[in-house]
Amino acid sequence: MSEIVVIGSSSMDLVVTSAIRPGAGETVLGESFKTVPGGKGANQAVAAARLGANVKMIGCVGDDHYGKEILVNFKENHVNVTNVKPVTGVGSGTAHIVLAEGDNSIVFVKGANDYITPEYVKSVIDDIKKAKIVLIQQEIPEETVEYVSDICEEYNIPLLLNPAPARPLSQDVINRATYITPNEHEAAVLFNNLSIEEALKKYPNKLFITEGKQGARYYDGEKEILVSSYTVDAVDTTGAGDTFNAALAVALVEGKNIEESLQFANRAASLSVTKFGAQGGMPTREEVEGAL
Ligand code: ADP
Repeated sequence: MSEIVVIGSSSMDLVVTSAIRPGAGETVLGESFKTVPGGKGANQAVAAARLGANVKMIGCVGDDHYGKEILVNFKENHVNVTNVKPVTGVGSGTAHIVLAEGDNSIVFVKGANDYITPEYVKSVIDDIKKAKIVLIQQEIPEETVEYVSDICEEYNIPLLLNPAPARPLSQDVINRATYITPNEHEAAVLFNNLSIEEALKKYPNKLFITEGKQGARYYDGEKEILVSSYTVDAVDTTGAGDTFNAALAVALVEGKNIEESLQFANRAASLSVTKFGAQGGMPTREEVEGAL
């Protein structure tokens, strides 16, 4: 029986490093190129599996070479791919990333991720019903997020919604989600008529706002609590939020209370930023427990 179901995106990230970022119409010589598996859904599935969870991924890949590589990567990380569907005639999701001048610029092409429709999710609903928690993000169609929130409510399955990338959400989805985990920017987009303090108070023990190296903040019904992250030498913060969400889901499923779960999530995420790449730094269970 699968414990964590992740419904979300997967992609191949095409990463170029260059001293200079080309302007419009310009060509520059780059330094290196590599492909690494990514996508918020895939990252969270891999992170949860590394932490020892039983993870089932629901998603779509293209019928191209990248799609095969994405599937191999899932299998190498012990993520169940029975419900990762190859879509005929469509490319896999790709992220075109230029690392230059100390920052990144990214063009994300959704490709097969657009085929993660409510109909597709419905076709695998029996597996969702077995989940102890469902983890979802926003690199998939909006109506799918709506639909998943609907069925999680109907079947009483806890739903952890990581509202990334930022986009406004219907009040219904906000109400139906069991936990919501925006970073500060995403929280500002979601609750644009409320201050952070007001939003936290409105959703006690449900809204967890991540604040980078500071950790994560929530309201426990009486007071605001900042659960501090751990001091590390950060090398690459890509995927910190993905590791945080996966670890939070793992801890909650195991019955840890909210504060313990946020500590576990902070620990896993802080370790993840000490190595390059989103999935490259995702820690194992032993690494997190050794460090806690
Ligand atoms: P996102 O990656 O989605 O933008 P944040 O930057 O808020 O989200 O980071 C998510 C979590 O990752 C934080 O709550 C924290 O646990 C951890 N984290 C991120 N950056 C650092 C850092 N420099 N040092 C320690 N922990 C970090």
